[in-house]
Amino acid sequence: MSKSGHSQRVKLLPNHRAHDARHLIQRWRVLARGAECRVKVLCVADELPVIAVESRAAHEGVPAVYLSSGVHGDEPGAAWGLLTWAEKHVHDLKRGSFLIAPCLNPVGLTLNTRTDHRGIDINRRFHDAEDLTCGPWQRWITKKAMRFGLCLHEDYDGQGIYLYELNHARQTAGHDIIERCSRVIAPDPRKNIDGQRAKGGVIRRRTLPTHLPGMPETVELHQRGCPLTVTFETPSEFDLDTRVRAQVKFIESCLEVLAAS
Ligand SMILES: [Zn+2]
Repeated sequence: MSKSGHSQRVKLLPNHRAHDARHLIQRWRVLARGAECRVKVLCVADELPVIAVESRAAHEGVPAVYLSSGVHGDEPGAAWGLLTWAEKHVHDLKRGSFLIAPCLNPVGLTLNTRTDHRGIDINRRFHDAEDLTCGPWQRWITKKAMRFGLCLHEDYDGQGIYLYELNHARQTAGHDIIERCSRVIAPDPRKNIDGQRAKGGVIRRRTLPTHLPGMPETVELHQRGCPLTVTFETPSEFDLDTRVRAQVKFIESCLEVLAAS
């Protein structure tokens, strides 16, 4: 935990590296320098920067792969999985087009909470141009061309890995992706996940949900022209290293399957 003037409630938390958002952000800054990526500070949330990382090709306007994690702070496997993937694939970051939001809720990660420092679940605020985090996020991604988007999460009710695919196309890529990741963690066997029909760890939507009180990141991305979004969930009761490995495998699998299609 940082000694540099952080708020009292943060200091009271157990000092576990998985929730050290400052360390995570610092690793991203070092990585971005090596991979010739730009780092933007979208906003500062309770003294912690919310950063966005753009590869050189993305900055030049080549249609990008969008990657994000850390929307929910109690899902550290997603944030560390994304960093681990990036550190393993510096060469791809140098060459390819990537827009990355490494940790959209750093205060939540520090506090190990789903919500941010305001008690807000930002995954219901992505439609809101006035929001502290989601407003700058909207201005960052507006007019950026995207090929597909991957939103990384974890689920404490999860019994295995699963994904939500939001895709207008007839073909689904979800089963192929889950199959490739299933050697790390088996698919969630539930047939109903959060009130939605699931099959072999895949929940598929071809139309946008309309019943939600506010917009999740994945829906907002889709509405802003990203043709395909996949939300991935690892089961947060499983051990952290295995969850991180599953997240890395998920990103690698999507890049293989979706980039080829
Ligand atoms: Zn989540």
